[in-house]
Parts: sequence; structure tokens; C-alpha cells
Amino acid sequence: MLFHYVPRLIQSFFSEYTWHCNRDVNKIYLTFDDGPVPGITDLVLNSLAKRGLKATFFMVGDNVKKYPSLAKEVIQAGNQVGNHTFHHVNGAKVSSDLYLKEIIACENMLNQTLGVENNLFRPPYGRITSKQFSLLQTRYQIIMWDVLSGDFHPKISPNVCLKKCIKFTRNGSIVVFHDQEKTKATLSRMLDSYLDYVNDAGFITDVL
Ligand SMILES: [Zn+2]
Repeated sequence: MLFHYVPRLIQSFFSEYTWHCNRDVNKIYLTFDDGPVPGITDLVLNSLAKRGLKATFFMVGDNVKKYPSLAKEVIQAGNQVGNHTFHHVNGAKVSSDLYLKEIIACENMLNQTLGVENNLFRPPYGRITSKQFSLLQTRYQIIMWDVLSGDFHPKISPNVCLKKCIKFTRNGSIVVFHDQEKTKATLSRMLDSYLDYVNDAGFITDVL
């Protein structure tokens, strides 16, 4: 079973991480992980631009290297970009030394290719050890999410994905989607409807 909402108890165990923003303001924070990937990132950019919405894209360094012009389009459209390691590594499965190298390699790529300089980091798979966190915390803000769309899950239909996103989105929410090959079919069928809901419900999208 996949939880589409991160329970407050879990958030409180890891209170150093950012799970959501201000609950008193009608702003939400759309995030797209793992790109840029041609055929899906451009689809997302289109859907956002049509509605005047903004998002934060947690990019994989290796994809920025492969598709620099697509990465630049993300920035030029007024979106934000954050670090998602160079090869999408799972913190629980690699040494802290390698993990740091991955993050620095991604940071350099974002800086050199896009001129991006910020402290936004999202751990792939949401996995990061306490040691890795302690090494990163002075330099990075660890951005998690409170609404998990489940767009990557083969057993979750686009319709369920849409319903869950709508159900759990509220003031200050950080909503996670993925702009990658596996999520293309789902996103292409539900993202426009969700973004229409965001506008109709009176939410303002902001970047992190
Ligand atoms: Zn990821």
C-alpha cells in the first residue's frame, strides 16, 4: 500500500527536513524529480506555462549533462531547480563519502550549465542516513514532501493519482511528481486536470 500523505508523526521524527511550507498561506509547491527527460519534461513545462504556474525541478546531474538545453528551458520559464544527486543514488545503499561526491558533482553541473546556486536538495527515494544528513545540514536544506502523487507506481491509475493529489493538497503542501520515462503515461493523463484543480481551488504555486 502506498501512502499519498506523509503522516504528521513521521514528519515530527524527522523535523530537520522540510515536509511542507506555511499552512496559513494559500501557496503550494509543485515539485518534479529525476529529469530533465525529453518527451516528459517538456510536456510538464507546457502544462505549467499554459496556466501560468511554477514548480521546482529536482534534477539528476547526469540528465542535465545529457539534455542541457531542456534543463535551460526549465529555468527560462521561471521555475526553480534543485539537486537530486548526479546518478540518482540511494543514500542508504552507498557510503557517505560517495553520497557527498554525488551531490557535489550535481551541484557543479547545475551551476556550470544553468547558473543555479542554491541549497535545495532532495534525496532520491527519500533515503538519507543520519550521518549523511549531519554532513549535509550546514550546506543544504533537505526538501521532502507531504503529498506523494504515486505517479511512478505501476498499480496506481492516473485517476487515483489525481484524486489523491486533490484530496491531500492544502496550504503549504509540497507535492511530488516525477518527470521521467516511467511516469509519462500517468502524468500525460492526469497532470492537466490536477493543475486545473490547483487554479480553480485558488492555490498559488510558488518555487522553493
Ligand atoms: Zn528521484
